[in-house]
Amino acid sequence: MTSTTDPSLTSWIESANEKGAEFPIQSLPWGAFRRKGSSERPRLGVPIGDQVLELKKCVENGLLAGIEVAAGEALCEPTLNALMALGPKAWTTVRSSISELLRSDCARVRDSNRCRMRAVVPMDQIELAMPVAIGDYTDFYASVHHATNVGSMFRPDNPLMPNYKHLPVGYHGRASSIVLSGTPIRRPSGQTCPKDGEPPVFGPSKALDYELEVGFFVGRGNTLGTPIPIASAREHIFGLTLVNDWSARDVQKWEYQPLGPFNAKNFGTTISPWVMQLDALEPFLAPAPKRAKADPELLPYLKWSDDFLIDLKLEVRIQSASMRDQDMAPVVVSKGTYRDMYWTFAQMLAHHTSTGCNLRPGDLLASGTVSGPDEDSRGCLLERTWRGEYPIELPDGTKRAFLQDGDEVIIAGYCQKRGATRISLGECRGRVVSS
Ligand code: CA
Repeated sequence: MTSTTDPSLTSWIESANEKGAEFPIQSLPWGAFRRKGSSERPRLGVPIGDQVLELKKCVENGLLAGIEVAAGEALCEPTLNALMALGPKAWTTVRSSISELLRSDCARVRDSNRCRMRAVVPMDQIELAMPVAIGDYTDFYASVHHATNVGSMFRPDNPLMPNYKHLPVGYHGRASSIVLSGTPIRRPSGQTCPKDGEPPVFGPSKALDYELEVGFFVGRGNTLGTPIPIASAREHIFGLTLVNDWSARDVQKWEYQPLGPFNAKNFGTTISPWVMQLDALEPFLAPAPKRAKADPELLPYLKWSDDFLIDLKLEVRIQSASMRDQDMAPVVVSKGTYRDMYWTFAQMLAHHTSTGCNLRPGDLLASGTVSGPDEDSRGCLLERTWRGEYPIELPDGTKRAFLQDGDEVIIAGYCQKRGATRISLGECRGRVVSS
């Protein structure tokens, strides 16, 4: 069987073969869409070049070879959850079947006007919908650079908590307020304590921030009471999405002790619309981070010889309202890579379920802010401006310690290296609107 990531593959949809195409045949991420302006039930689709393949129509017309009945049924659902529940063999088979259907040498749809009319929709005629029904959302804190930077603002002598290098720290987030890229984010109001020792006040947050993160969707879940061993992690990781974990730093500062973030992070979390199956990222898997000599030995349940990170390049851009008015392009304010993370997805999964906690298909586990060792690889404004002490200057001449109303934050991610086709995870964007 030809690998679906083979760079020599081409599609009969010519726009997918153009150099730098956003959706080449090697990528095939998953999404949900409806016809523009309609209120129809969303349907699952896979983008290819400037078109989208509608999977329900493929199933109804018997176009996908070699897939099981259950997989066919799952592809007719409005979200990916049923497919996710089927497990890795089904995911790989369906992806291979879609790849085969779209290849230059496959005539089934290519040479049938009727099938093309039914199963292929131009991208400019659709609007995207939430691809997954997310039951639970957990957010980690997996970048040691982020943890060290934030810790040293508050505890200069001892930035990392004693547990940090022993376990992937996380908290249970809020799934109900996860929104799709493009959804406006209303500036939250909250209780803050502007001056230590004085009474708190209530009002719109004055320190709204973004957090550059990468999340993964749980595929097959586990039953309550049965942990997922770390070596089985691949069987439970369906695919990746980009995440912006919007954070109200002033609310967070006052509320976070002793139970961690609450209202500071429950008013909106944005995800990118296309879910990139892990199979598509195979050429870009990188070894798990080497632990420094001084780091403590890991407990066995967090150790796995095949553990991996992903060489996923990440970028944050900001465009203010006045930049938009002046037709100025968004400016890059942060650039990093997922290779710089301390904890891996597999470790998050193993640790999360080590108590027997059950994860379900479609649960979202996010990495926490992705920061690297350099100043320009810091993944949030809190770090980038060092709590607002060193504001960044935007091309319109204004300064940002934290986000202002009208600012649009765009997170982009892609994998690129010699000998492999560039894979884009697309964008995760959101604009701040006044409270
Ligand atoms: Ca976060």
